[in-house]
Amino acid sequence: MGAMPELPEVEITARSLDRHVRDAQIESALAPGVNALKTYAPPLSALEGRQILGVRRRGKHLILDVSGELALLMHLMSAGRLQLYEKRAGPRDRTSRLLLRLADGRELRLREFGSRQSAWVKLLGAGDLEADEALSTLGPEAWPDPPPLEDLLDAPRPLHALLRDQRTIAGIGRSWADEILWEARFSPYKRGSELDADEAARLRDAIVGTLGGAIAHYEEAIELPIPDKLPMPLQVHRRQGAPCPRCGSTLAAVHFEDYVIAYCPTCQTDGRVLKDRRLSRLLR
Ligand SMILES: [Zn+2]
Repeated sequence: MGAMPELPEVEITARSLDRHVRDAQIESALAPGVNALKTYAPPLSALEGRQILGVRRRGKHLILDVSGELALLMHLMSAGRLQLYEKRAGPRDRTSRLLLRLADGRELRLREFGSRQSAWVKLLGAGDLEADEALSTLGPEAWPDPPPLEDLLDAPRPLHALLRDQRTIAGIGRSWADEILWEARFSPYKRGSELDADEAARLRDAIVGTLGGAIAHYEEAIELPIPDKLPMPLQVHRRQGAPCPRCGSTLAAVHFEDYVIAYCPTCQTDGRVLKDRRLSRLLR
């Protein structure tokens, strides 16, 4: 299982699928993952015979626009992939949560790895899409052109938590928050309300540059189907113990129950090693 898909990973998925399935006709739709489909009306059969108008991203969500005023809204959660195959699945693939069989013989599969079933799909009327709470609660997009951060992040909360809060700014998760804060040279615990104008601009540049750089990397590195394990160009995240690519200091980490924040003590915290917060709820 690869890392959790965030804005760059979902963006490249949307872009590459859009290039390959735009205008394709849906022959049938199945949801073998009993828990994945979160809506009842319209029924999945409403997709039969419809045309895929495009694939796009909003925050960490994927949206398939479909003819007949329909839209499929999906969240890959921690271990989902939306993959296009030239042939249909043979013996039933246990990772499949949603299968869209295309009239030309190809198949679009939402697959999920690991034991947890948390990826989800909603089939909505196109007019109901933006009002769905998954989208209506999202903050502005982190990329390509987020608003100035001075007001957006003006809260007495740690930057690492603010950047991951989808209601504050949409698209960033644990992996890219580590990378962005390393790029901008901020402590993960620096408070949003402590940013001055120059620092807010520096952080914004790091967000746009880091996420944009990752997307450019994927454009070069990825071919369809989107691989199970994405080649994420990470420099800091999950690399604690390795040398900082910028200064050579040993990268450090703060451990939580279910995740880890990695950082460079020299570049980001004036040499201070942050306390292990495994039992703390500070960043929740
Ligand atoms: Zn460093």
